[in-house]
Amino acid sequence: MTPADATTVSADLFSRAQQVIPSGVNSPVRAFGSVGGTPPFLTSAQGALLHDADGRDYVDLVGSWGPMILGHAHEPVVEAVRDAAGRGLSFGAPQSGEVALAEEVVSRIAPVEQLRLVNSGTEATMSALRVARAATDRDVVVKFAGCYHGHVDALLAEAGSGVATFAMPGSAGVTAATARDTVVLPYGDRAAVSALFAARGGEIAAVITEAAPANMGVVPPREEDGIGFNRFLAETAHASGALLISDEVLTGFRASREGYYGVDGEGWTPDLMTFGKVIGGGLPVGAFGGRKDLMGLLAPAGPVYQAGTLSGNPLATAAGLATFAELDETAYATLASTSRALQQMVADALTTAGVPHVIQNAGTLFSVFFREQPVTGYDDAKMQDTEAFTRFFHAMLDAGVYLPPSAFEAWFVSTAHTPEVLDRIADALPGAAKAAA
Ligand code: PLP
Repeated sequence: MTPADATTVSADLFSRAQQVIPSGVNSPVRAFGSVGGTPPFLTSAQGALLHDADGRDYVDLVGSWGPMILGHAHEPVVEAVRDAAGRGLSFGAPQSGEVALAEEVVSRIAPVEQLRLVNSGTEATMSALRVARAATDRDVVVKFAGCYHGHVDALLAEAGSGVATFAMPGSAGVTAATARDTVVLPYGDRAAVSALFAARGGEIAAVITEAAPANMGVVPPREEDGIGFNRFLAETAHASGALLISDEVLTGFRASREGYYGVDGEGWTPDLMTFGKVIGGGLPVGAFGGRKDLMGLLAPAGPVYQAGTLSGNPLATAAGLATFAELDETAYATLASTSRALQQMVADALTTAGVPHVIQNAGTLFSVFFREQPVTGYDDAKMQDTEAFTRFFHAMLDAGVYLPPSAFEAWFVSTAHTPEVLDRIADALPGAAKAAA
């Protein structure tokens, strides 16, 4: 049976889901809204493979949108969670895993002196913004079009990810006052940043940016006169007494051992950073951290309130720690070569079929844009042949490869994407490329 077959178990589940869950999903892009069709309902996953309720399997290039960097049901991670579960699911009190996970992050990322664990990337960016506003006693936050920082009210304007997939300008339900405090600039536009700071520098609490945008597809920051965009932002913000928040929820511990911070090794120093995805090994975790004086503003010692019933949950910290235990230089070298090999395979297939495309990467992360010219920002990303992507997506799915169901997302590989798994993708590519042409 194929996912398009209306009698599949997935189709039945989707129809039931739509009765009781808005659009049948708990996160918008999962609904296949922009590509159409029925999303396969999954029953299990192992290594690089997903298994659905109709007995089909797929090579997974979504990886739960980032966390599954070691592949699914990776035994040491599962074992660590099993072991932790036997000792209690949640304490609501300090436990050693929180300390070890914070130590792991602090040891990898120099600008992070202290870290707080939360339950999602959204909570992490929301909390980092609050600290930045409290520290500066200012309200305005600057973000970039096409960057996604979770579904925080203040950060939904012209956001990437699902907001881009569904071509939404932002979200209904965000107050005008909140929107007024958010200024959206084109990504990479130094003149716009400088002009804004010249005009309103004294009002700006923080600039928040993805360290390397990956939610409008991957758009690596560009150097000008030997200065990278992240460093430019840090210097410009600091000159006006504002902070730089570097969002590494997606890139953190994926783009390299030190996240994109480790790739872009030209000495930029964010004041606060946000993490998620990989640090929870597949369980719900986010984190925000940075300079000790800023993190010291958090309650109970400081005036900034932030809390969480399940924050620092022992299962999540166990999964995160077991994942980190395997993320050594060898793992990153494997990820890098797998990512390179896959990019080449995709480029070859699309070129052979005559499909206009450009592949962009940031460390081991990459995405495929269905247009010829490089993408430097959100306006470029929107100028893709999304219909060609949709045909490509469905042909890949029919051939057993599960891509992100959106032309605006990164593709995620794991250490479980062995050469045999890549061969399966290679078999699917020529037909899908032909369908896209
Ligand atoms: N920041 C970035 C860069 C992300 O990619 C995401 C999620 O994709 C978030 C924040 C929000 O994280 P979460 O979905 O865990 O709330």
